[in-house]
Amino acid sequence: MRVAVVGAGAVGLTAARDLAASGAAVTVHDRGEPGSGASGRAAGVLYDAYAEDVDARLGARAMERFRALSGTRGFEFNECPYVMLARAGDAELAEAIGASAERMRSHGRPVETVAPADLGDRFPALRSDDVAAAAVATNAGWTDPGSYVEAMLGLAREAGAEIRANEPVAVDPGGPGVVACTPSASPTDEYDAVLVAAGAHTKEVLADAGIPVPLKSYRVQALTSRAAYDGPMCYDASAGVYFRPHPTGLLGGDGTVPEEADPDDWDRGADDWFRADLGDALGRRASHEPVVERAWAGLCTATPDGDPLLGEIREGVYVAAGWQGHGFMRAPATGEAIADWILGESAGIDPFDPARFTGEEEFEIREGMAVETGGDRP
Ligand SMILES: Cc1cc2nc3c(=O)[nH]c(=O)nc-3n(C[C@H](O)[C@H](O)[C@H](O)COP(=O)(O)OP(=O)(O)OC[C@H]3O[C@@H](n4cnc5c(N)ncnc54)[C@H](O)[C@@H]3O)c2cc1C
Repeated sequence: MRVAVVGAGAVGLTAARDLAASGAAVTVHDRGEPGSGASGRAAGVLYDAYAEDVDARLGARAMERFRALSGTRGFEFNECPYVMLARAGDAELAEAIGASAERMRSHGRPVETVAPADLGDRFPALRSDDVAAAAVATNAGWTDPGSYVEAMLGLAREAGAEIRANEPVAVDPGGPGVVACTPSASPTDEYDAVLVAAGAHTKEVLADAGIPVPLKSYRVQALTSRAAYDGPMCYDASAGVYFRPHPTGLLGGDGTVPEEADPDDWDRGADDWFRADLGDALGRRASHEPVVERAWAGLCTATPDGDPLLGEIREGVYVAAGWQGHGFMRAPATGEAIADWILGESAGIDPFDPARFTGEEEFEIREGMAVETGGDRP
């Protein structure tokens, strides 16, 4: 079986590696360098703390694969608990934290509800006197996302995949079962299946092939700080920010701009308001005054219902996109799932089936209740 993967991000490379390891003849195309999309800009926060069963299952599988890879090929999974909390005065969010934690536990995820009075003893780096509700996910950690891309790139090559960088491709759904994938500067290549995992460009790549999908790209932001931080990963739902330890000190982010961004023309720098808001939130929650080392933006992709598009969208054409900011931490599992589908070894994941949309849907990019929906937690 000949398979083209469009996009050498965390998802495309995981799928490519798994496909090639199962005997498929795989060619991966990237318009730039591998990891030059969102995967190279991600914060590297990893957890399986999801309230929906399908997400929890994928999250758990992803953690398993991250751990199995850890310590090899320059990739490290750094164990670190993930604290989710809401401030007093945010009754709705506080309730949502408790309810989400219970649902996460009902799917077998190790998530404890922690009394605010105990939070400070357990995590002295966090200020807890204004906390109304907290939960701690223990199957969690962080990594350098670039190191995962590098590791997958090596494994994909070793399994026989060919990687073609700096080569944007177009997809042309041909006759039944055959899809032509046209590199801009070389003759048309034909494949039995094409996986479009092109991140923020997925909508364009598929639209050019006559396949509309309801995807919107939007900016999110992060920064690293040189000031020391020796605490857990934390999502402060009231402030709408997250942070984690980082080799230079701390990495913090969110800074979601819920407006559609043009994937070919967007601001890669961080906004002043984001730096200021994150600085305030870090001061309040972790007594951390950021000494900014680097601040940046990247593009995430949204769908009408907040769930990804993962599956076959036309005969021979598969899509994997629309992660709502959670694509990196689930990549080992979603890449595996789509590879299995392409190989005919599974029938896909129902709630993520791209056929649930016509592609013409109007929708707003949802920030929503991140705790309940999983929306914009990292
Ligand atoms: C600041 C920030 C922080 C984040 N933090 C986290 C986090 O902590 N945890 C988490 O899980 N997620 C996080 N995310 C989200 C995460 O980065 C993405 O969901 C994930 O990386 C998506 O991976 P991907 O492989 O689907 O896409 P991408 O990594 O975007 O890869 C798509 C690739 O397709 C290529 N491409 C596009 N068009 C073409 C074409 N025509 N031909 C060939 N190649 C093409 C691009 O060059 C790119 O390399 C964050 C995102 C940002 C921006």
